[in-house]
Amino acid sequence: MSKVRKIRSIFSGKPTYEGAGVKLKRLFGYNEIPIFDPFLLLDDFGSTNPEEYIAGFPWHPHRGIETVTYMIHGIVSHSDSLGNKGDIEGGQVQWMTAGSGIIHQEMPQKQDDFLRGLQLWVNLPSKYKMISPRYQDIKDSDIFPVKEKNGVQVKVIAGLYKGTRGPVKEIICDPQYLDVWIPPQKVFNLSQEKENTVFIYVINGEGYFDITQKEFLEGQLGLFGKGEEVQVTSGKHGVRFILISGKPIGEPITWRGPIVMNSEEELDQAFEEYRNGSFIK
Ligand code: FE
Repeated sequence: MSKVRKIRSIFSGKPTYEGAGVKLKRLFGYNEIPIFDPFLLLDDFGSTNPEEYIAGFPWHPHRGIETVTYMIHGIVSHSDSLGNKGDIEGGQVQWMTAGSGIIHQEMPQKQDDFLRGLQLWVNLPSKYKMISPRYQDIKDSDIFPVKEKNGVQVKVIAGLYKGTRGPVKEIICDPQYLDVWIPPQKVFNLSQEKENTVFIYVINGEGYFDITQKEFLEGQLGLFGKGEEVQVTSGKHGVRFILISGKPIGEPITWRGPIVMNSEEELDQAFEEYRNGSFIK
């Protein structure tokens, strides 16, 4: 096995409507099970046109997953069945463990310029699917950038990077979630657990994501094959991307809308509970 990971597949995302009519780009989701295990879904939402996001994601349930919402620019207001209420602003992160069940709404606020956010779904292993729901908002001032000598800057959102642990600490799968900036024509190397699922998603700029030197542009996602190290070379404008890595769970995945369990019976039970009002524990 080569030391440096090669790109296994490239995803450019599919236009998808979610919530009450939010137009977003789904980089991966249901159709890609299980190649992103332990990750289930990544959406890039937002627009320069408020009509494409203002309808938002009104009250809906989740069970069996954790979500990480990272706002690049603009504000999403949220409230949930635990009584939480707040705004996620540009540079901030909201992490939520749905566990046994949460009902929430996520409402993007009108922006004069543009709104952009990323939502990642992380699966829960079977023995954690019914844990108590919890959530946390992380301020951008809690995400310290690690600055390298060659100008590379790494914001650690979750997991460990060279001794710095990100503020999102309680995700059961303990993923690594980095927001990386590489100035023009520099190289960035990062060691990885051999068997982890690792992918990169370009927020802006362009770069080369393995030794084959295939160029990646804004909005493209590269899923790596197995290996010990990730190597990224930036193009002439530099590149900003998120890198996400996690250990596969390797369990059956049954998924219906906002609920992800291990069997059809568990899904039926969740929807029956939602109908009869016993969903929230
Ligand atoms: Fe949601």
